[in-house]
Amino acid sequence: MSNIELHLSATEIGHYINGAPIAGNSTRFGEVFNPATGALTRKVALANDAEVARAVAAAKAAFPAWADTPPIRRARVIFKFLELMNANKDLLAAAITAEHGKVFTDAQGEVSRAIDVVEFACGIPQLLKGDYTDQVSTGIDNWTMRQPLGVVAGITPFNFPTMVPAWMFPVAIACGNTFILKPSPTDPTPSLMMADLWKQAGLPDGVFNVVQGDKVAVDALLTHPEVKAISFVGSTPIANYIYETGARHGKRVQALGGAKNHLVVMPDADIDQVVDALIGSAYGSAGERCMAISVAVLVGDAADKVMPKLIERTKTLKIKNGVEIDAEMGPIVTKVALDRITGYIDDGVKSGAELLVDGRGFKLAGHEKGFWLGGTLFDHVTPEMRIYKEEIFGPVLSCVRVKDFSAAVELINAHEFGNGVSCFTRDGNVAREFSRRIEVGMVGINVPIPVPMAWHGFGGWKRSLFGDMHAYGEEGVRFYTKQKSIMQRWPESIGKGAEFVMPTAK
Ligand code: NAD
Repeated sequence: MSNIELHLSATEIGHYINGAPIAGNSTRFGEVFNPATGALTRKVALANDAEVARAVAAAKAAFPAWADTPPIRRARVIFKFLELMNANKDLLAAAITAEHGKVFTDAQGEVSRAIDVVEFACGIPQLLKGDYTDQVSTGIDNWTMRQPLGVVAGITPFNFPTMVPAWMFPVAIACGNTFILKPSPTDPTPSLMMADLWKQAGLPDGVFNVVQGDKVAVDALLTHPEVKAISFVGSTPIANYIYETGARHGKRVQALGGAKNHLVVMPDADIDQVVDALIGSAYGSAGERCMAISVAVLVGDAADKVMPKLIERTKTLKIKNGVEIDAEMGPIVTKVALDRITGYIDDGVKSGAELLVDGRGFKLAGHEKGFWLGGTLFDHVTPEMRIYKEEIFGPVLSCVRVKDFSAAVELINAHEFGNGVSCFTRDGNVAREFSRRIEVGMVGINVPIPVPMAWHGFGGWKRSLFGDMHAYGEEGVRFYTKQKSIMQRWPESIGKGAEFVMPTAK
């Protein structure tokens, strides 16, 4: 059994500091469940301040040598890590399904998207090339280069335990930083598996560290003077807190928050494609994706064409244990999340939305203690309802009817979130106008979940992102480096005498 398989059967999950797994020495633990069966499978250490300080010290000690390693040599280690991620894709996916509950094929897709960013980071020598001006003044040259920040940290959510950390660490490490990952305590195992893969790839000890934990660990990272930058992905209230606290402690912060993603259906859209898109994007991963579609905006008579097919497909979703290869949707991640989502469905009914398919009370034979909920579909949802305004983060699709295209754009632009959006149409001008006028960071035209590829960067607008730079892509490289400008001349070209006026080109 390989090291990384051992993590799948461990009963206690600890940290990974300075190139080695270490047990937690705090008395606090979190519980890790298999959401499909409801079984408590293991416990996870919750770090205290001293454990975070130990990880920061390891990362700080590793920084000078790693920052000094030529980018091409850093890239070679990343290439090796890439090979190992590919070779261990199914083991990582199995760990995701066991702790998150998403179906195995979807978990494989998640790991593939993580790998995309690792591939991007392999190009770091090209990405770090600076610019240069010969002869900015007589005998003087000026160039810029980008240098790493030091110790940087990533704080990540439960819903993508490999992909979201991989939005951060491959780029941060490629740029010459050392990294501390604080994963979600809900599904912590993949973080340790990836730490082992880095070790196998030859990454020097201390460059990639994992600290398991909760608010205590997060606060220790946010206030530690040696942590130079924080990348966060999670819910909006916490993103807001991370941004404010990190900035107050002098750190560079990018904090990606929650979402309420709309899919506009124009009357000319291909209705079968629309139904496929809505079913996959609303119920895939049980709606627990920050790019899930949770609102369908049905324009004009589109509703009459879409609704009957949507009801039928929602009722016939294959909801199974994610290990079943034909499962389309798995369980909800935790009992707490299940109760929250059920509460939203109750609230939608009370506020007058029409409940067309009710997922409450869904049971799966043989899995009676699992955290199960069926696909849920509401029609005639209106903007003042809580189920429209707030992020539910579950398999609940709300349909809103509007009279025309302008009303659809106005509705979406008025929403507090601006993560992803989509428009289904056959009209090129509508598509163009939509892309230009919509106030959302990631736009799909006939694409339901427009998650940008690794070299484009990921980020929403409004209260879906706090900070200036998106995750990964060239924005990621800028986030994890600081620019230095160098101006140089040589003694032979220096003129005589001190200059007291602002230097200008001569
Ligand atoms: P969460 O905000 O509860 O947790 C995210 C991280 O913050 C975890 O590591 C958690 O341990 C930590 N945390 C939780 N409470 C904290 C507190 N009070 N103080 C300090 N740290 C705290 O989010 P989640 O439930 O794990 O994930 C789901 C959320 O993440 C959804 O809102 C979803 O939209 C969002 N998300 C956003 C994106 C994006 O790219 N915008 C991507 C994935 C998920």
